[in-house]
Amino acid sequence: MAPRYSLAKRRAAELLRRARVRKAPIPVERLAALLKAEIVLQPFSGEVSGIVHRNKDGSAVIGINSSDAPQRQRFTIAHELGHLLLHAVEDLHVDKNFPIGLRNGISGKAVDESEIEANQFAAALLMPSDLLGKDVQRLTGTDVLIAIQKLARKYRVSEQAMSIRLSTLGHVKLGT
Ligand SMILES: [Zn+2]
Repeated sequence: MAPRYSLAKRRAAELLRRARVRKAPIPVERLAALLKAEIVLQPFSGEVSGIVHRNKDGSAVIGINSSDAPQRQRFTIAHELGHLLLHAVEDLHVDKNFPIGLRNGISGKAVDESEIEANQFAAALLMPSDLLGKDVQRLTGTDVLIAIQKLARKYRVSEQAMSIRLSTLGHVKLGT
């Protein structure tokens, strides 16, 4: 089955609308609370970025690796919310250091489409195309690398995640 990109995008947009989020940075912790997902920071060993588990009563627990950079933690929270909204998470789901660039095939590894969908959801949630598009317009004429830095800071994501998102949305010509 091919990854359901449009479904992932739609679910992210629905959640932002429901929470009345209209500006960056996206309050990902508040969105988790809205979905009854408790966030627990833990110093996971090895390559674990995050885990997610849905309780019988519909609430959920998201475990985040406290050793990861804050921007990475935000991306992982968004990724796990994507699993909750897109996939039947029952038992513990463990994410081991998934590459943020899955969608663009930057990772050569074969990966589960549910991971690609969760990443697409996370990117669309943290960097909504409408908000980002307006910010990109405001930065017209700015050096591309500086624009990426500014946008990454504003959206509280890594520069890597931001540059992937900009290229996915066709903003690679930014500033030129
Ligand atoms: Zn995952």
